Amino acid sequence: MDNIDDHKRTSLKILFMAAEAAPFVKVGGLGDVAGSLPPALLALSNSNNNRQVEIDIRLVIPFHGDIQHQDYPIHSAAKFSIPYRGEMVSTEVFTMELDGLPIYFISGPLIPPDAPVYSSNSLADGLKYTYFSLAALEMARALKWQPDIIHANDWHSAPSVYKVSLTRTKDDFFADSATLLGVHNLPYLGAGAGPALNAFGLRPALGSSLPWWSQDMPLPLGLLSADHIVAVSPTYAKEILSPEFGVGLDGFLRSRAESISGILNGIDTSKWDPETDDHLEARYSSKNLDLRTQNKLRLQREFDLEEDIQSPLLAMVTRLDYQKGVDLVIEAVRQLLITPGYASKLWQLIILGTGDPTLEEAVGALVENLPSKLRAVIRFDAALSHRIYAGADMLLIPSRYEPCGLTQMIAMRYGCVPIARS
Ligand code: ADP
Repeated sequence: MDNIDDHKRTSLKILFMAAEAAPFVKVGGLGDVAGSLPPALLALSNSNNNRQVEIDIRLVIPFHGDIQHQDYPIHSAAKFSIPYRGEMVSTEVFTMELDGLPIYFISGPLIPPDAPVYSSNSLADGLKYTYFSLAALEMARALKWQPDIIHANDWHSAPSVYKVSLTRTKDDFFADSATLLGVHNLPYLGAGAGPALNAFGLRPALGSSLPWWSQDMPLPLGLLSADHIVAVSPTYAKEILSPEFGVGLDGFLRSRAESISGILNGIDTSKWDPETDDHLEARYSSKNLDLRTQNKLRLQREFDLEEDIQSPLLAMVTRLDYQKGVDLVIEAVRQLLITPGYASKLWQLIILGTGDPTLEEAVGALVENLPSKLRAVIRFDAALSHRIYAGADMLLIPSRYEPCGLTQMIAMRYGCVPIARS
């Protein structure tokens, strides 16, 4: 029998693209995954147990304004131009390393420094992310670094997958690159980005097996053309094949079922660790859980709620979105308020979230109705989220659907009991 050491290690080059990645920029779970999966794969490659595959994974994200305002030790890695509406858009790629992982930031006029990561302007976002997707591919060419796998994520980087499928036969550079599309949240198709794709020369897939209404949308085009599709959990991989969760693409996705897998997301337990977390009043583990109480009291004090260990402290940490069932909590609290006796019972609720302006307003109005028990913080605040996971007793997750969900994993890591829909 061959000794495994006798074999040469195969090298696998992976270009990992995402719209957001912690710690640089994070809006939701995609940021967590893009910030922790590439380092996890790199660690796997470096582990002693792995003698077969050497993984050279590199992360590329847009040089969002939020990143530009930070002081990262970046330097220029490449300059090139991207064709756009008959002109050339000059692009610069900056780079740095984070714990051995190469990170690249795409910078150019279509990624404006004052724009949020995601906006309600589908054309502006379409232009930004189509540009990002194509520039990320060109970056690989400029660096003369031929990826074996192009791993795009959600609609924002799906145009890269479509582009490679269209040009592979004529473009030697990507001829051997396989494309993988991660689906973190199917309903975000990139609707309205059709004109943006067109502006970069990516035509709709007319006459393809996609439903007609989706033939110019980034995510469906990626789903049509990816060599493989990976959903963020085995359950979600099945759910998207059903009419209930398939957002009208279920029939098409069933025709691709053999190319779809589900791999359960995870969290980086070294970054989410109550034993070492600098954000906490008191650090603790499952062995000394009583220390957690100090974090609860600190949270109550911080929010000017009654400092009472007995009072169940509920929390939500979420995008304020219909998907997340925030309206269900608002309605449930309203019911409590009119149920005799409940307004005076022991319970407190802190909601940390931002997103839909109507829900932001509704949450704010709710707090005014019961200021002794309710608090709302309408912003994105990573440090506060850590304090909430460490101090609240229970986390409410009444999501209408969850492709995977990370908040329940984080909550469990911090000994905060998640209460979720089945
Ligand atoms: P989704 O990706 O659908 O938003 P997940 O549960 O997968 O939901 O991930 C949400 C992530 O975003 C978690 O890390 C959560 O702590 C974080 N998060 C959501 N809203 C906020 C906020 N307002 N401030 C800080 N962190 C937030």
